Amino acid sequence: MSEAPAVALTFDAEHPDRPHHRADATDRILSALADAGVRATFFVQGRWAESHPSEVRSIAAQGHLLGNHSTYHARMTLLTDEGLRTDVGRAEGTIRDLTGVDVRPWFRCPFGDGHDDPRVRAALDELGYRDVWWNVEPFDWDPARTAQQVERDTVARALAVGDGAVVLLHTWPGTTAEAVPGILEDLRAAGVRFVTVDELERLP
Ligand SMILES: [Zn+2]
Repeated sequence: MSEAPAVALTFDAEHPDRPHHRADATDRILSALADAGVRATFFVQGRWAESHPSEVRSIAAQGHLLGNHSTYHARMTLLTDEGLRTDVGRAEGTIRDLTGVDVRPWFRCPFGDGHDDPRVRAALDELGYRDVWWNVEPFDWDPARTAQQVERDTVARALAVGDGAVVLLHTWPGTTAEAVPGILEDLRAAGVRFVTVDELERLP
């Protein structure tokens, strides 16, 4: 029998921009992960970190992997090289000041924008970052989707990808907070091994 498929749950931790956000969503997600003994990867937006320092410290203290999700959550392709360096560097400093963690090399482009843009990639590379794409997207940011849909799609698509699945979730939707315990339970029952993105041999 082959080794259990490795699945990385990733959460973008950022200011919510949709109506189904819940103030306690991040804490509920962290509790569910702690209850299940699962480590995940959190891409933290600098401006969100500035306004939610205790959540950021909890993410780090609970052993999750931290990545950089920019300062302003602007589309990277809209920024000049100098603007990109300033934006990315400021988030890096904010997270380091709060947690002591150096988030490099882990980065996720806001909206995924710029991930395939040679200029953005070169600028990130120069700063010591690798952009982390995903291959499972349950669209939890969409207020039209229920927690049941988010749970069902995450589980089905992660199992369809199998080893090397990287799931894109967010820390702020109430639906995500509701869905995470079932996602953990169902994927574990299916024999999945949960990993952080630094443990994957190949990123999507
Ligand atoms: Zn984002």
